Amino acid sequence: MSVSFWQDLSKYKNQKIISKDVIIVGGGIAGLSTAFWLKHEDPSLSIAVLEKGAVGSGATGRNAGFITCGSVEHYNRMVEKHGESQAKEIWKFSEENLKLLNEYLLKGHEGEVSFQTQGSFSLASTNEEFKELKRAKALMSSHGVSVETLEVVDIKKRLHVEGFVGGIKYCDDASIDPIALLSLMRKKLEAGPSPVEFYEHNEVFELSSKSDTQVVVTQAHTFEGQAVVLATNAYSSLIDSYFENKIYPTRGQILITEKVPLFMEGPCYANFVLDYFRQLPTGEVIIGGFRQLQKDAEVGFSDQTTFVIQKALEDFLHLHIPHLRGKKVTHRWSGVMGFSADGQPLVGSLPTNPQVYFLGGFTAHGLGLAFHCAKTLSQLIFGQSPPQWLSARRF
Ligand SMILES: Cc1cc2nc3c(=O)[nH]c(=O)nc-3n(C[C@H](O)[C@H](O)[C@H](O)COP(=O)(O)OP(=O)(O)OC[C@H]3O[C@@H](n4cnc5c(N)ncnc54)[C@H](O)[C@@H]3O)c2cc1C
Repeated sequence: MSVSFWQDLSKYKNQKIISKDVIIVGGGIAGLSTAFWLKHEDPSLSIAVLEKGAVGSGATGRNAGFITCGSVEHYNRMVEKHGESQAKEIWKFSEENLKLLNEYLLKGHEGEVSFQTQGSFSLASTNEEFKELKRAKALMSSHGVSVETLEVVDIKKRLHVEGFVGGIKYCDDASIDPIALLSLMRKKLEAGPSPVEFYEHNEVFELSSKSDTQVVVTQAHTFEGQAVVLATNAYSSLIDSYFENKIYPTRGQILITEKVPLFMEGPCYANFVLDYFRQLPTGEVIIGGFRQLQKDAEVGFSDQTTFVIQKALEDFLHLHIPHLRGKKVTHRWSGVMGFSADGQPLVGSLPTNPQVYFLGGFTAHGLGLAFHCAKTLSQLIFGQSPPQWLSARRF
């Protein structure tokens, strides 16, 4: 972004410079997870998290709350693209993400964050897609992943939805309230003898370095640190042009209905992972997707909703989910995600300044990947290289 002379309050020379060991830009799941792992590695580190809005105002506070393994395509396609051994490694990495979330954050707090481990379903509306799902299931089972096949009768009985010819269940997936998850993380980060400091409503507009010190300027403050982490995901190319052909801002739209009695066994994907729906423990049903209908309009930084996609979401709801016919839609919104060129996240540092680290490009799977990616980034900061498929150097 650019900032005018008038808006730049940091220009007043009497302003105190805030010094920290690490300055993290971005208050979403990636930024808070990075703060968590850096503190885990070295509790004495001083850390500031800078966020242009409030914590959770980006994609993390606007998503559907699926914590799913893998990436944006069926497993057979991951195998075709990456080969068997790398596809398995990527899947296991995301399985580990959930284990780490459980072990370090969620245990004992499940109710507080509406954490549910009901697995997730991929539903096929054509025989062609069902054939792919069966192929995906065979590959996954041979790689030790727990998957179950569903015929039409199972879908009706267990999910109470119509218009699908078959599906599979990924038994180990989960779901969560993403804002409650951020609040839980923040509480942990602000506790203890050397708490992480949060600076909300501080948009970073300038990064520079003088000798070994990194300088980060927001409209309100100037910060100095030994290292900077950009956890700005979709917005990263607005800070540094390095990200322009690596992380693409991509909009996702959602709606949610009024509460209905609980009827679904677990969260569902449909149409080659493009569309998705789930019922919250409190009864509301959230439906998202249909980006494919307006591919060009869904690229960019705007978080408006559009009539075309919102109508498609509503039509989907009436067509496939009898329990929702005649029910009210209470909220509609969108958010901007960071998609990477090959669908896998990026962890690395800027070639022009190795003390500026980053993570992003979670391609609609930040809840399923970011906590583990942040652990990998923290290890990189302490000298250990990430796996090749995750390293930004692959581009
Ligand atoms: C509609 C929708 C549904 C989704 N559903 C799911 C789902 O069910 N499961 C799943 O795993 N993923 C889902 N995603 C994707 C998921 O939300 C993202 O992958 C994840 O939130 C990325 O986290 P992040 O911390 O990298 O980015 P963000 O949450 O976007 O955080 C980046 C932060 O950086 C801040 N920022 C940017 N520029 C600056 C600056 N210059 N100065 C200061 N701060 C700055 C932003 O305000 C933002 O808060 C969905 C996304 C959307 C939009």
